[in-house]
Amino acid sequence: MAFFTVFGNPVAHSLSPQIHDAFAAQHGLGIRYLPSLTSAGQFRRAVSDFFYCGGAGANVTVPFKESAYELVTHLTTRAAKARAVNTLIPLGFGQLLGDNTDGIGLITDLRVNCHQQLNQRAVVLLGAGGAARGALYALLEQPVTSVTVVNRTLERAQQLVEDTQDSRVTACAFDALAIPTGALVINATSISLSDKSGTALLPIEASELAKATCAYDMMYGAKPTVFMQQAQNAEVNDVFDGLGMLVEQAAVAFKLWHDLERVNTQQVIEQLRSQLKG
Ligand code: NDP
Repeated sequence: MAFFTVFGNPVAHSLSPQIHDAFAAQHGLGIRYLPSLTSAGQFRRAVSDFFYCGGAGANVTVPFKESAYELVTHLTTRAAKARAVNTLIPLGFGQLLGDNTDGIGLITDLRVNCHQQLNQRAVVLLGAGGAARGALYALLEQPVTSVTVVNRTLERAQQLVEDTQDSRVTACAFDALAIPTGALVINATSISLSDKSGTALLPIEASELAKATCAYDMMYGAKPTVFMQQAQNAEVNDVFDGLGMLVEQAAVAFKLWHDLERVNTQQVIEQLRSQLKG
């Protein structure tokens, strides 16, 4: 039986074990996927012990994606660009390949599940942390016309723009944001995690948000997130959460670990959606 894990802190809430169990069941594979709670000081040791004991693959979630990027011996191009690793693949002899499947998971969800056109689309990316960085590089592989990176700390957005060296990308502060008509707005901030009341709105006027035709929040939950409600109140046509992104990034990791092409992500998204709604 092959063993898998997800390293994180906290990690008990992670849906990854359930998603991978569901994919494995689709293929009749017997796997064991359990969460691993670890601390910053123990992370490196926990990873090395897991693979020394024969672990077949691991995911990495908050707050260890950057630490995982530092510890692997090999990186895929997309993980090198994102400077963050969410998937670990053992290569043998203590060598580990680090990949980042978040960006491709987002793109697949947008295109396939949310039916969003990225060709000639203007994108507004809210946030400049790890998730935004991965998303930005994946978006730039698409024929989008522009990506405006908007962040509370403007310098971080500017740094991201400088790193990409792509003329389609610009940075701006929330108070200077002018959303292009028909834009896709993606929330990659952690505002709903950092705000304890869970009610804080991003500082975007409803009249401005209304110019977008799609609002996508990387967060997800039982109810529409605060950003989704903000977009619904502004009468944005299409509003989505990030549950599909989570399942699609897991599908890419599953394919890498098992060398299997097809998993039915729709089925798993529906299963998790009804479970979240309780
Ligand atoms: P980081 O901590 O790296 O970045 C956080 C970002 O949020 C920064 O840009 C920060 O701005 C901004 N931010 C935090 N609080 C506020 C606030 N009160 N107002 C405005 N901006 C704020 O987090 P990640 O990039 O790792 O994660 C971001 C989100 O994406 C999380 O909610 C995470 O759960 C989600 N995610 C979802 C995935 C999925 O599969 N669905 C996958 C990966 C992430 P500043 O620079 O000014 O601090």
